[in-house]
Amino acid sequence: MRALLIHNPIAGSGKSLRFTKRIVELFAKHGITLETRHLILGINPFDDALDTELAIVCGGDGSINYVVNCMREVGINPTLGIIPMGTANDFANALDLPMRPIAAAKRILDGTVRNIDCCKVNDRYFVNIFSFGIFTSASQRTPRAAKKQFGKLAYLKPGIDDIRTMRPIRIQFKTDRGVEYNGSVLVFLAFNGITAGRMMLTRQSRPDDGLMEIVVLESRHKIYSYGDIARYILGGNPDAVRHFRCSEIEVTSSQHRITDIDGERGPNFPLHITCEKGALKIKM
Ligand SMILES: [Mg+2]
Repeated sequence: MRALLIHNPIAGSGKSLRFTKRIVELFAKHGITLETRHLILGINPFDDALDTELAIVCGGDGSINYVVNCMREVGINPTLGIIPMGTANDFANALDLPMRPIAAAKRILDGTVRNIDCCKVNDRYFVNIFSFGIFTSASQRTPRAAKKQFGKLAYLKPGIDDIRTMRPIRIQFKTDRGVEYNGSVLVFLAFNGITAGRMMLTRQSRPDDGLMEIVVLESRHKIYSYGDIARYILGGNPDAVRHFRCSEIEVTSSQHRITDIDGERGPNFPLHITCEKGALKIKM
């Protein structure tokens, strides 16, 4: 069986470099030879490994996202293993995986293969979240060096800059379940996972139900919006926050905003977002 260990040497404060050797040794003891590959943007780790049956990703949501898009690009669907080593590890959290690298590696060895949903926006796949609006591109805009030094706290600065400017965007959307909307929003989130930056922002999301949970914060006067955001984060349900589930949604806008998929730059409007039920095989 061909098995790859794909790791991002700079994810999670360089943790992966410290653990890769131990993980390779652990798998070798169980008769599995792992070929290690660095995750390098622009290089598809499967280009010369189309017969890969198991791909273990050491990294955060951005690394998992990259690997999933790479395997789709070459048309293969190997079983995935996840060793959380990112800043927030929201997707691993949604799957309830162990956060300690060696424990996560053991879970891959002992676990069974489960079918987990994968979402897609235009031609890009995402595993945890697609978003636009305030806060949502904080990860993209946080320098890698700051993430390395401060972890999740590094997102505070761009997040606070967003709250201060708080620019609404007028959008229209329509889901396969008949929800239609035309109005101004501050935030749009489409979840496959359940958390963003480890904040519990969904109410019903599960990564294996074939549905996304959409969370929208409608724009109101600035002062009320601060309160809406705070109440929702703390578990309340202010009227300005709408959330519902669907497996397909079309979003249009005549304005431009940077979008985000799993912490990386996402596509521009118009957006066609779908949830593919059970499309990923994850050993866990
Ligand atoms: Mg779901």
